[in-house]
Amino acid sequence: MQAGKDAQGADGNQTAPGGPARPSGALAETAGGIDWEYAPAPESRDVVTLAPEYGLFINGEFAPAAGGALFATVNPATEEPLAQVAEAGAEDVDRAVAAARAAYERVWGPMAPAERAKYLYRIARVLQERSREFAVLESLDNGKPIKETRDVDVPLAAAHFFYHAGWADKLEYAGFGPSPRPVGVAGQIIPWNFPLLMAAWKLAPALAAGNTCVLKPAETTPLTALLLAQVCQEAGLPPGVVNVLTGAGETGAALVAHPGVDKVAFTGSTEVGKQIQRTVAGTGKRLTLELGGKAANVVFDDAPVEAAVEGIVNGIFFNQGHVCCAGSRLLVQESVADAVVDRLRERLGTLRLGDPLDKNTDIGAINSRPQLDKISELAASGEAEGAERWSPPCQLPGRGYWFPPTVFTGVAQSHRIAREEIFGPVLSVLTFRTPQEAVTKANNTPYGLSAGVWTDKGSRILWLAQRLRAGVIWANTYNRFDPASPFGGYRESGFGREGGRHGLAAYLDA
Ligand code: NDP
Repeated sequence: MQAGKDAQGADGNQTAPGGPARPSGALAETAGGIDWEYAPAPESRDVVTLAPEYGLFINGEFAPAAGGALFATVNPATEEPLAQVAEAGAEDVDRAVAAARAAYERVWGPMAPAERAKYLYRIARVLQERSREFAVLESLDNGKPIKETRDVDVPLAAAHFFYHAGWADKLEYAGFGPSPRPVGVAGQIIPWNFPLLMAAWKLAPALAAGNTCVLKPAETTPLTALLLAQVCQEAGLPPGVVNVLTGAGETGAALVAHPGVDKVAFTGSTEVGKQIQRTVAGTGKRLTLELGGKAANVVFDDAPVEAAVEGIVNGIFFNQGHVCCAGSRLLVQESVADAVVDRLRERLGTLRLGDPLDKNTDIGAINSRPQLDKISELAASGEAEGAERWSPPCQLPGRGYWFPPTVFTGVAQSHRIAREEIFGPVLSVLTFRTPQEAVTKANNTPYGLSAGVWTDKGSRILWLAQRLRAGVIWANTYNRFDPASPFGGYRESGFGREGGRHGLAAYLDA
């Protein structure tokens, strides 16, 4: 493991501040004395102007919460407070829903679909123009590495607006009947793992279909949703079409329960998803839930090992494992298990953990103290239940919330680390002998969001894909997303689809 900051090498040597730990067999020793250590390459923070205080975005304007309450959002990599943010109460929810209703009835609902599309294109373009600012702000508020915010979160968010702009005036050809109608006011609640991207997943299809929105970002990551609200202003979006209410769980609960909301869209934990389902039961509100997962990433003995190892790393260590579809259970065929795990360990030794704003960083900070505690507790349970824990040698930065990439071998299906969503950089390795055993073990979970298959044989991919109970199955790749491709799960992973033609269905009364 090469740590980007305050690193200690595998040999225990302290490195220069900001420099990586030198892995065993370092290139410096094999390349004629050339020093191949990475120099720090921090992205500039100056592209972002942080206000000391942020208001709620209601009816096209930023305003303090009616009760004046504020909460702090912090940089998880340093614990430095970034800004104070307004905490919306019941009165604010009321105002936002009323603004969304008025905009729906008077402006956005009656607007010609081709006109709506223009606003979505404009939002997409402004997002692209301000992409660097968004990437830095997301890394600051969330703790994820800049190379992910820059190359994944922000471009995909823009792509969602572009894609759905294209649908806005073609809804009658989407297969939902000749004249599908919008649903009305959408209450949308999103988590902290992909704050901007989840906002785009929620807003873009809802707006394209003619609905208006009240969005509640997660308490620990409100800043990019508020910057997106500024983008809506910049794009000239009519007031009330998009409203952003920052706050904690109570704000989300008040939004879900508000009688003026026609449709609720939620991404987050299964537990809160169930509460929401209870609240909306019998109200006539439409509901989609995108919840947790415990995906199996299945590696067969004929899979190309190097490619599979990259897919395993991407599957569970991308975004510190804060991914609902993370490949958190590696199912590897017994005959190649040792070889795959050995190669995986070598590869993990080259990952760099540290400053999220450094362009070399692979593993950033854990998003919050409670999440770090949850990951630590589950990892401890893995050891207590008898699995073998391994992490590459690395010293974590002294401040902030950090957890090293961790691999558990000797995991039994009954272990908590094989059953519960850890939502962190922790991989549980299990083995199988036959394809049928792989299917049985992969499906031995209450979740059903995603899975991965690694094999040289196309027929085996198809055989497995028919039997794995998961909404999304990747073959010889992992964590690929496209706005045109529907995403979602079933069982404890929720219901409804986001993205593609299927995702529009949630926002249309066909
Ligand atoms: P939550 O499900 O609590 O949070 C998701 C969103 O819902 C946040 O905006 C949250 O607000 C809001 N919320 C919380 N309580 C309610 C409520 N009663 N009614 C309406 N909205 C509510 O996830 P956490 O952030 O607490 O994470 C807990 C665990 O959930 C994680 O450890 C992880 O396992 C899982 N998780 C799964 C995600 C996924 O995509 N599948 C995403 C996030 C978490 P606030 O943040 O302010 O509390």
